[in-house]
Amino acid sequence: MQDNALTIALSKGRIFEETLPLLAAAGIVPTEEPEKSRKLIIGTNHENIRLVIVRATDVPTYVRYGAADFGIAGKDVLIEHGGTGLYQPLDLEIAKCRMMVAVRKGFDYEAASQPGCRLKIATKYPEIAASHFAGKGVHVDIIKLYGSMELAPLVGLSDAIVDLVSTGNTLKANGLEAVEHIVDISSRLVVNKAALKTKYALLEPIIRAFESAVGAQA
Ligand code: AMP
Repeated sequence: MQDNALTIALSKGRIFEETLPLLAAAGIVPTEEPEKSRKLIIGTNHENIRLVIVRATDVPTYVRYGAADFGIAGKDVLIEHGGTGLYQPLDLEIAKCRMMVAVRKGFDYEAASQPGCRLKIATKYPEIAASHFAGKGVHVDIIKLYGSMELAPLVGLSDAIVDLVSTGNTLKANGLEAVEHIVDISSRLVVNKAALKTKYALLEPIIRAFESAVGAQA
């Protein structure tokens, strides 16, 4: 990769939308909207800065191997996949939500989650779920899912789910309730460690601009 060019890894949806004002604060404006385009590489108003659109869970991988110089990834993704090889200078305080345990309304979670009990947990986040329940001394059978976790307790696949909750509307619409808070989640800036040295002059003003934009919102 050229030393005077920057590649930024972003995922579509909420993270992308909430990142746009931060990019704008750094003077970076994408030339296309990823929601309306099938392109995976999107240009910006800077000839030497481009965006690559990847799955949220793949952002750390692109940045770690230097295919992107920096990216934005949720703390959920970073805990689950590990932040090895990544510099994480800034909590951007965007895409905020909570990692929660949720059950069917009426399920006696209090009784079912005593130390020594055994629970079936459906989740996209096996590491986070396993370490949470290990800390409580509860045995768990983790059932890995890739989406629609809310369905699992309704059809008897699991006793509970571990998932992200923002407004709580999805749980409510499916007759579930949140019963335990595991960790607060927000998105972080992740930077390739080598790029931080070799492209410091390009990266530093962007990181500073993000930092002041985050500070101004707080
Ligand atoms: P809500 O109905 O607003 O509580 O949103 C819950 C649904 O959105 C669940 O399917 C979550 O997995 C997903 N979700 C909520 N917040 C986030 C986030 N920050 N990043 C990714 N997915 C999220």
